[in-house]
Amino acid sequence: MSKKKLVLINPRSHHRVGFLIDKESRYPPLGLGIVAALTPDDWEIILIDENFQNFTFEDADLVGITSFTSTVKRAYEIAASYRTHNIPVVLGGIHASMLPEEAEQFVDVVAIGEAEITWPDILFDFENNQLKKRYSGNLITLDKVPQATHNLFHKEYEIDSIQTTRGCPMVCEFCSVPGFNGKTYRTRPVENVLAEMETMRTDRFFFVDDNIVGYNTAARNHAKAIFNGMIDRGIKKDWFCQASINFGQDEELLDLAYKAGCRLVLIGVESEKTDALQSMNKRSNLKVGVDNYQKIFSIIQQHGISVLGTFIMGLDTDSVNDIKNRAEYIINSNIDAIQISILTPFPGTKTYNDFIKEGRLTATNYPEDWEKYWGGDIIIRPAKMSALEFKQVLQEAAIKIYDSKRLMQLMLRTLRTTKNPKTALWAFSANAHYHNMVFETDIKKHIKLNKVFGRS
Ligand code: SF4
Repeated sequence: MSKKKLVLINPRSHHRVGFLIDKESRYPPLGLGIVAALTPDDWEIILIDENFQNFTFEDADLVGITSFTSTVKRAYEIAASYRTHNIPVVLGGIHASMLPEEAEQFVDVVAIGEAEITWPDILFDFENNQLKKRYSGNLITLDKVPQATHNLFHKEYEIDSIQTTRGCPMVCEFCSVPGFNGKTYRTRPVENVLAEMETMRTDRFFFVDDNIVGYNTAARNHAKAIFNGMIDRGIKKDWFCQASINFGQDEELLDLAYKAGCRLVLIGVESEKTDALQSMNKRSNLKVGVDNYQKIFSIIQQHGISVLGTFIMGLDTDSVNDIKNRAEYIINSNIDAIQISILTPFPGTKTYNDFIKEGRLTATNYPEDWEKYWGGDIIIRPAKMSALEFKQVLQEAAIKIYDSKRLMQLMLRTLRTTKNPKTALWAFSANAHYHNMVFETDIKKHIKLNKVFGRS
């Protein structure tokens, strides 16, 4: 009997093209790898991944698309081409989960929440010719997460992805994680994570968890058990992760993380000002205190790990001077790599609801305008400055922060503080992705860093 054919699609937003110049800035669509793992063997599975190839129509029995808010317009375009052929399209991911009423105008089925619950039901109903408009379910315990099918991902991905936890109890007002993955921090069994890790082809990867160390001892012990397991099993891969600032307050954890291959940690710094943190309910940073940031970053670096600090520009507490001061703070700080993003109210967050209520969103021609919801476009009316003033001060800040000479100096400083060339290169690469976006050039084409550090 011939197999049924499932086409999975990872759409791309054209706004991210500059960011994606460098292959190292592309990460595989882990959610689709999980969907593939949940699909029985009597299906043939094809992945069309626009991180590497533009979509061209591929015949299918069923189509599954994932999307963020910034890629949903593209997802709807692709869905339309299948719907004209009467091929059913399922849309999942965070945007469809937050705005199912919108999504169901463009696709046949909306999968809300986590695929482990919805996908088996969707396949069952497809086979029985009784597909419904929507599927949703309660949050699962993470022992039910299958090993993602990593060999489905495009072979040119240089950095793979894996997940060990879901959910966050912190409820920062701008963040869609608690709305999507819930407010309970759930952990995956350590053995399952390690077994999946051993199936990954690349020697570098990204822990996609929003906070790999959580907010209590049990969560930190879970992370330590994973790091210990990697060391015991001899899994020799370099990686980066995202964590709250308390990552730097546990030296045993830092030792283990480094030995297990951690080279970079992304920390949501957001702002150097207490009132700004209060305005967004960033409790983890408030607990640590802004005056302790630099000390904590320095401890992380002493353990051989570099710090990628993320900052938000355009908060309601921000004036033109505040943006200038934040840029100065960043330039004078000991942070190794910097991501600045423009405050972007994402559907499903309190920030989004507030901006809608106050009529301060300026990109509301949906779905076209969803492409602008990626952190690099001004789509708000700022509270304390005009949009033009904001744009100008932001451009000045970005040009200073991502200046190529400065980035080279930063890399050498990271090398001095962490004493690890690979760590310095990870931090530089992160900066290079943002540089490419700001200047629309590939910094690495001019600086042959991979040769300098001998990476093949
Ligand atoms: S920004 Fe981080 S700490 Fe805040 S709610 Fe989101 S995941 Fe949790």
